[in-house]
Amino acid sequence: MNNPSIVLYGAKNAKLEDKTVPELAEPHDVLVRINYVGVCGSDVHFWHHGGIGKMVNSSTGIVMGHEASGTIHSIGPSVKSFKPGDRVAIEPGVPCRLCKACKAGTYNLCREMRFAAAPGPPDTQGTLSKYFRSSEDFVYKIPDEMGLDEAVLVEPLAVAVHAVKLGAVKPGETVVVMGSGTIGLLCAAAARQFGAHRVVLVDILEKKLEFAAQYLNFETYCSPTHISAEENAEKLLEKLGLAEDGTDTFGGRVDTVIEASGAASSIETGIHILRPGGKYVQTGLGKPKIEFPIVAMGQKELMVRGCFRYGSGDYELAVSLINKGLIDVKPLISSVTPFEKAPEAWEKTARGEGIKNLIQGVQD
Ligand SMILES: [Zn+2]
Ligand SMILES: [Zn+2]
Repeated sequence: MNNPSIVLYGAKNAKLEDKTVPELAEPHDVLVRINYVGVCGSDVHFWHHGGIGKMVNSSTGIVMGHEASGTIHSIGPSVKSFKPGDRVAIEPGVPCRLCKACKAGTYNLCREMRFAAAPGPPDTQGTLSKYFRSSEDFVYKIPDEMGLDEAVLVEPLAVAVHAVKLGAVKPGETVVVMGSGTIGLLCAAAARQFGAHRVVLVDILEKKLEFAAQYLNFETYCSPTHISAEENAEKLLEKLGLAEDGTDTFGGRVDTVIEASGAASSIETGIHILRPGGKYVQTGLGKPKIEFPIVAMGQKELMVRGCFRYGSGDYELAVSLINKGLIDVKPLISSVTPFEKAPEAWEKTARGEGIKNLIQGVQD
């Protein structure tokens, strides 16, 4: 085969196929030999449902995968910063670089974004291939000491860096992260790097919190599922000693909440635990519409903001945080599945096994 690829045709229907090797179409293109691909929640959703919002075209299929690392195989004539053999973390979306969003430095909001494994039209093929074409400015050299497996975690860490930046986390703050999956854990780790003095991880699964507690010595809180968000907020604040003296649940002492679960109850709780003037960042994706405590938001003058993927400087900072040993992503890597068995890795993640499951690139 020239370019073995894992192609998804619909729910539970994936095939290992040969694809043509992408050509270097633009002078700044690079062709990357993929070493590892990470599995994330969206992959699992695609595997189970055949897409998110937009469905995969069932006759042409789409190559899966968007979190990836690799080795530069060949370069276009204008590429100056890379040579074949360089090891890289791949940013999976390439924007148009021409629109207002791009020119304002918010290229993650580009309407013309071509994101790996995103159904179109036009479809953008993913990274679960032997070869993946990217662009010089969307691959990032990793240092010799960094493993190519670790480099896959640059993607979720970039998501976390973006969220913490948007939350304007400052030294000394108390930050609560709702949800302790990969993104939640990395948001907590990043918040500490931005100077937060107290970082608390919240989840509904004790097992995940146990991991969080030993991973970076985070404080944790396990949300009971049978109580209201108001009660839950009260309990959380009490347990952590963050309740404002003599007030109700609208008076927490939490400076910033980063919501990384997307669960409606968690969103509500997150709003209630914030101090007046606190900040709230939504990075988790759940139901498109939910009940929202908008009066609490208004009366506390909260800053509430959306957060989407990663933008300018986020990949560079993520690489540097790992490289300098400030955030250790190795403990998050739970398994490596051979390329041909990619669906097994999706299933593993679907069952909640491990933190970050990887798929190995095609072996020669
Ligand atoms: Zn992902
Ligand atoms: Zn653009």
